[in-house]
Amino acid sequence: MSSLPIRPDLVGKSAYGAPQLDVPIKLNTNENPFEHDGKFAADVASELEIVMANANRYPDRDAIKLREKLAQYLSDATGVSISPEQVWPANGSNEVLMQLFQLFGGPGRVAVGFEPSYSMHPIISQLTNTSWMSIHRDQDFEISNVELSGVETQVNVILVCTPNNPTGNITSLEIIKQLHDSTSAMVIVDEAYAEFSDSPSAVTLIQECPRLAVVRTMSKAFGFAGVRLGYVVGSTELIAALQLVRLPYHLSSLTQQAAISALATAKSLHLKVEQLIEERNQMTAVLLEMGFKAVDSHANFILFGKFRNQVEVWEYLLNKGILVRDVGIPGWLRVTCGTSTENSAFLAAMAELKDSKSE
Ligand SMILES: *Cc1c(COP(=O)(O)O)cnc(C)c1O
Repeated sequence: MSSLPIRPDLVGKSAYGAPQLDVPIKLNTNENPFEHDGKFAADVASELEIVMANANRYPDRDAIKLREKLAQYLSDATGVSISPEQVWPANGSNEVLMQLFQLFGGPGRVAVGFEPSYSMHPIISQLTNTSWMSIHRDQDFEISNVELSGVETQVNVILVCTPNNPTGNITSLEIIKQLHDSTSAMVIVDEAYAEFSDSPSAVTLIQECPRLAVVRTMSKAFGFAGVRLGYVVGSTELIAALQLVRLPYHLSSLTQQAAISALATAKSLHLKVEQLIEERNQMTAVLLEMGFKAVDSHANFILFGKFRNQVEVWEYLLNKGILVRDVGIPGWLRVTCGTSTENSAFLAAMAELKDSKSE
């Protein structure tokens, strides 16, 4: 590495990477645990076949048809009328976040986030040469007035993840509006887990908050992590400005079509979301009953603890073939809600741990 003329600020850095270990029960990356049924897969495949025949041509650079479908989905989901000109898709919400940082961050600019939160936010900030300012959430992982007072008015980008990864709790719309109105920053709300929460989306604030960008993804609720499709919702002015930084033809015609096909069946995919919400509530209740702590989650994962040494518990679970995530918060671990069989195995392992501990 050192023989290459790498940017000095990147030398010695390590790349993002949740361990992709080969274990029977993977509850570490917040994926949807359900596979797509054969009929759905076959229907999408037949539509992809048609698109493939035209693969000699570049894709629709503006992804018009997909944006129409996303706008329709959002309007139905939030009750706010969203036009295709207010939506912009890319290869996962990580690429959307990157584009937002290319537009609003950069050298000499400052982004602020409330941590612990999604580990990619500071990484994307760094990649775009934006200074990262971290404000600690309070002991309940909330953004309270004290935390808000730490936001300087001259920051350029503010990131709020709600429901927050890895803690699962939500931030109220009042706080998001307060952050918007008391600064001149671009406020980015990462709603990757919105479909798992019944609290109102920040999409409902777009009309009154012109500097608001709501980022969403099909990776979790739609079970589309492998396809890579995320999107941002905001003002038409924001979406027009994003065209300055996007690469031409960034979204393949195959990706566009797969997402269009999936959005046509959004309803059936949401059934699985209902199931996961039930699993989550059940798991939380059982963990609490066992005497562990669990943060009230509005997502498809639970932050649980509190352990004297969470690394030991992580290893204990791994030995049982269960992979959870150590997100680096002392005393806590994060578990993704899987199928009921996977969750039962996890809870059984935790029950044993509880018993051996109380001896
Ligand atoms: C999983 C996740 C994403 C999703 O990223 P994609 O690139 O869309 O797969 C974005 N934000 C948060 C907070 C996440 O947890």
